Amino acid sequence: MLPECDVVFPETVEQALEALSAEGARLIAGGTDLVPNLTRGVSRARVLVSLARLAGLDGLEARGNALHIGARVTLARLARDPTVSALSRAAAMIASPQIRNTATVGGNLCLDTRCVYVNQSELWRGANGFCIKTAGAVCHVVEGGKSCVAASAADLPPVLVALDATIDVASPSGARTIALEQLYSNNGATPLSLAPDQLITAVSVPLDPHTRAAYRKLRVRQAIDFALLGIAVAITLDGDRCASVRVVAGGLAPAPRRVKLDELRGERVDRAFVERVAERAEHAFRPLDNVATDRAWRRAMVPVLVRDAFDELGLSAS
Ligand SMILES: Cc1cc2nc3c(=O)[nH]c(=O)nc-3n(C[C@H](O)[C@H](O)[C@H](O)COP(=O)(O)OP(=O)(O)OC[C@H]3O[C@@H](n4cnc5c(N)ncnc54)[C@H](O)[C@@H]3O)c2cc1C
Ligand code: SF4
Repeated sequence: MLPECDVVFPETVEQALEALSAEGARLIAGGTDLVPNLTRGVSRARVLVSLARLAGLDGLEARGNALHIGARVTLARLARDPTVSALSRAAAMIASPQIRNTATVGGNLCLDTRCVYVNQSELWRGANGFCIKTAGAVCHVVEGGKSCVAASAADLPPVLVALDATIDVASPSGARTIALEQLYSNNGATPLSLAPDQLITAVSVPLDPHTRAAYRKLRVRQAIDFALLGIAVAITLDGDRCASVRVVAGGLAPAPRRVKLDELRGERVDRAFVERVAERAEHAFRPLDNVATDRAWRRAMVPVLVRDAFDELGLSAS
């Protein structure tokens, strides 16, 4: 059952920040992640600060050299926007049509981390002695582990990190723009670097005609399923050569993981190039037992998804 809590509806960012400074206040957008977590006692809140009436977070437009997406834009709307196809396709792979009509971009970036030992009822977790992420002292995934390694399973962050997106953050001390990558703390218990009285107002995605991107998602069912592994590939081309390539994985660790591939700059983009990227990614990404699927299989799927992404971009033929 959803615990009792107050709900407030600020109409400006300033009012929202003020409401968020109260003890136990928690931001709610579509509620498709937060409400199940409150119901299961994975998250707690005394006051829900709703974004529903907040003006100015609904923009979705290409301006200058970037696509600007307001934090309250729904996933359904992003899925229909053709500006960055990898992004709209990733949005379309999330959850179900009903959920995408309510779920927001800001909520997706701030999705709580997931783990087979925590996305359970309170009774189940209690019978297992709880764990670091909620009320316990141990981690059931990493024996002797001192910090939580629950996975960031959101689908938009890998694509946005691969595209070097930035976010606008509002806080009582003013607004700032940071790389999206900096949002993630790499601690599954407290996965965001945002303070409780800060909120994301927008995301900006650089638009470069020489950059192509694709996203592949491993899941058991083709709908209403979180990523067991998500691989985003973004490559900037200089003719038939690589000016830069980024591969980012979701579903593995508390933050999206990026492979270092700087040495591939200037290389010709052909099948051998794709194989080198796939090998590097397989070496770099090490799935854990934080989701209910065999980790050896998830690791074996890393190079497969990398190759699939390059195939989708039409870059692995020669
Ligand atoms: C059945 C089901 C299947 C799902 N499948 C997927 C899936 O395949 N892939 C996937 O990625 N997600 C999935 N989800 C999770 C969820 O629906 C989406 O991630 C969604 O985008 C969350 O957005 P929301 O607006 O509902 O977030 P909310 O639940 O409102 O909020 C989520 C978190 O983000 C914070 N937050 C929200 N907006 C902001 C903001 N502007 N600034 C700072 N913090 C903010 C909230 O405080 C909260 O901690 C699924 C959910 C369900 C119920
Ligand atoms: S990774 Fe460990 S601490 Fe984190 S939720 Fe899972 S079992 Fe709990």
